[in-house]
Amino acid sequence: MSNVIVIDHPLVQHKLTLMRRKEASTAEFRQLLREIATLLAYEVTRDLPLETTKIETPLAVIDAPMLSSKKLCLISILRAGNGLLDGMLDLIPSARVGHVGLYRDPHTLEAIEYYCKLPLDIGERLAVVLDPMLATGHSAVAALDRIKDRGAHAIKFVCLVAAPEGIKTLQEAHPDVPIYAAAIDSHLNDHGYIVPGLGDAGDRLFGTK
Ligand code: URA
Repeated sequence: MSNVIVIDHPLVQHKLTLMRRKEASTAEFRQLLREIATLLAYEVTRDLPLETTKIETPLAVIDAPMLSSKKLCLISILRAGNGLLDGMLDLIPSARVGHVGLYRDPHTLEAIEYYCKLPLDIGERLAVVLDPMLATGHSAVAALDRIKDRGAHAIKFVCLVAAPEGIKTLQEAHPDVPIYAAAIDSHLNDHGYIVPGLGDAGDRLFGTK
């Protein structure tokens, strides 16, 4: 699988295992997702360009590295994407934030947008799109379609757990978008859930079931 980056850092793997356990409480699940998101943010920003700027320490004047002007936008696919958003913002507090909300029409199975709010200058930013579960890939494809329609061209997709089916669908539709995942699981079941997965990420994050 080209263009898929699996974050196999021991801390990420350990925390993901704790999250997968069905007995993990809502509070534990939320906290672990936030912590993993911070670690994923570290990986997804690894190639951000740097420039030097002159600063004065108490001892000397130096040319020191700082992030160059290319800015970030974190885009949460509602609602579970918000669980990744918080941890990423802990590390990148000045990032702009967009939200995309989609639901599946039960008759046509088409992804219908019910909410989309993105920064106007999205085309000048690296867009990091967040959804913990890459399952069928249909909502990820629909979200990326809309984000590209608004002018984004530098895009990365970040999830926690990906199914091979979702990776294939997303890569066929958007081969230019690298996928960052903490794990690639076995398959989707008949209800579109990732196996072994962790269940419904939104319900577990918000305690709605
Ligand atoms: N969405 C989830 O939250 N979990 C899955 O397993 C699949 C899609």
